[in-house]
Amino acid sequence: MKIRSLLILLLPMWVAPITFAQQTPQSLADAELPSLVGIYKDIHTHPELSGHEERTASLVAKELRAAGCQVTEHLGKYENSKLKAYGVVGVMKNGDGPTVLVRTDMDALPVEEETGLPYASKVVARNDEGRDVHVMHACGHDAHVAAFIGTARALGKLKDQWHGTIVFVAQPAEEIGAGARALLKDGLYDRFGKPNFALGFHDKADVEAGHIAVTEGYTSANADSVDVTVRGIGGHGAYPHKNKDPIVLAAEIINAWQTIVSRENNPLDPVVITVGSIHGGTKNNIIPDEVKMQLTVRTYKPKVRERVLADIDRIAKGCAAAAGIPPDLAPIVSVSREFVAPAMYNNPELTKRLVAVWKKSLGDENVEIVDPVMGGEDFSEYSLPNHSIPAVNFHFGAVEPAKIAEYKRGGKELPTLHSSKFAPVPEPTIRTGIIGMTTAVLELMK
Ligand SMILES: [Zn+2]
Ligand SMILES: [Zn+2]
Repeated sequence: MKIRSLLILLLPMWVAPITFAQQTPQSLADAELPSLVGIYKDIHTHPELSGHEERTASLVAKELRAAGCQVTEHLGKYENSKLKAYGVVGVMKNGDGPTVLVRTDMDALPVEEETGLPYASKVVARNDEGRDVHVMHACGHDAHVAAFIGTARALGKLKDQWHGTIVFVAQPAEEIGAGARALLKDGLYDRFGKPNFALGFHDKADVEAGHIAVTEGYTSANADSVDVTVRGIGGHGAYPHKNKDPIVLAAEIINAWQTIVSRENNPLDPVVITVGSIHGGTKNNIIPDEVKMQLTVRTYKPKVRERVLADIDRIAKGCAAAAGIPPDLAPIVSVSREFVAPAMYNNPELTKRLVAVWKKSLGDENVEIVDPVMGGEDFSEYSLPNHSIPAVNFHFGAVEPAKIAEYKRGGKELPTLHSSKFAPVPEPTIRTGIIGMTTAVLELMK
C-alpha cells in the first residue's frame, strides 16, 4: 500500500514534465520537421496525376496509422471510370467532443519540372487520354501532405489538450475538381460522421514562408471545365475553298470569347476564361476535320457563372455559322459536371476566431489578411450545401522572405502555382502549415 501510494504521488512529478510540459504545436513541429521534410522530398520526387495517387495514398495511410488513426483506404466514387479511388481517411478519437475534418490534397500536375532542385521530379506518366506527360508537384500538394502528417503526429501527442474526433482526409484529384465530391459520394459523412467544422490549407506562391494568409468570406472562385470540339470539313491544305477550316475558326472563336469578359460582363464581377489546351491537325498540308479545346472558366456569382457558360456556347456556334459550317457540324460545347469546383467560402466568424489563434501562435506580423483569388478549390464541397458546415481554407506562405521583399519592391515576378519553376522552401513552409492547422484544431476542440 505504502509503495503504491508513494508511486501515485511521485508518478505525475516524473511523467508530467517529460510528456506534457514542453509539448506545444511549435515544439512538435520542430521535432518532426527533419522526418517530414524527408517525406516531402520523397513525394516531390514521386508525383502522381489526379486519380492515380496510389503511392502517395499508401504512404499517407501508413503515416496516419502510425500517428494513432483508424485508417480506411480506397475511398472515392468517381463518375469517370478511369480514375481510381485513392482517398484515405484517418479517424483519431479522443472522448466526447466536436468532430473536426482536416483535409489535405495529394495529386500532382502534368508539368515538366524546371526547378533544378536535387529532388526534382523526372517522372513521366500516361494520362487519361493515353498521352505520356511529365508530372510535377507544381501546386505544393506534397507540402500539404507533409504538413498534414505533421499535424496528425502533433495532435496524436497532444491528446491532453483536445477532446472529440478528428477526421483526417487525404483527398485525391483536387486539381481536376473531382476528388472531394468523389469522397462525399462514397459516404464520407455517413461513414465517418458529419463534421462540426472543416479545415483545409494550401501553400501560397506570393506569401513568405512563416506567414499564414487568409481571406474572410469568398476566397476562391467557381471553377468550371469546358470542352469544345470545333468541327470543319477536312481536306488538302492547298485547296481551302473546297474545305471548311476548323483551325481558323477555332482561332476566331478564341478571340471572340475574350469579348465575354471585356464587353458583356459587368467589370465589377470577376470572370476569367482561359483556353488551356488546343489540339488540331497532324501535318502542314492537311486541313483537319476538327480542333479540340479545353477551357477553364472562373466566376463568383451563380448568375454570372450561368451567363458566361451560355455565352461560350453561343459565341462558338455563332462563329461557326458565320464561317458557313453546316448546322449538323456546329461546335460541340460541353460543360463538365465531373471537373468542377464551387466557390470557396471561409466562414467569417470561424476565420476571425482562427486569425486570433494564429496571431498568438505565430505573432501578429506573421498573419496576413489577403484578397480573394480566381483559383478554384474543391475543398468548398465539404461545407456544402450552402456553407452549412463552417469551413476555413487558409494559406501558408512558401517563398523565401528575401524573394518576397524583392517582388514587393517591383522586382522580379515570382513563379506562380502550377509553374514549372515553383518550389516551396520546405522547412518553414511545412512548419507553418503544421502549426497553423494544429493550433486551429486545438482551438475548436479544447
Ligand atoms: Zn493546383
Ligand atoms: Zn493546389
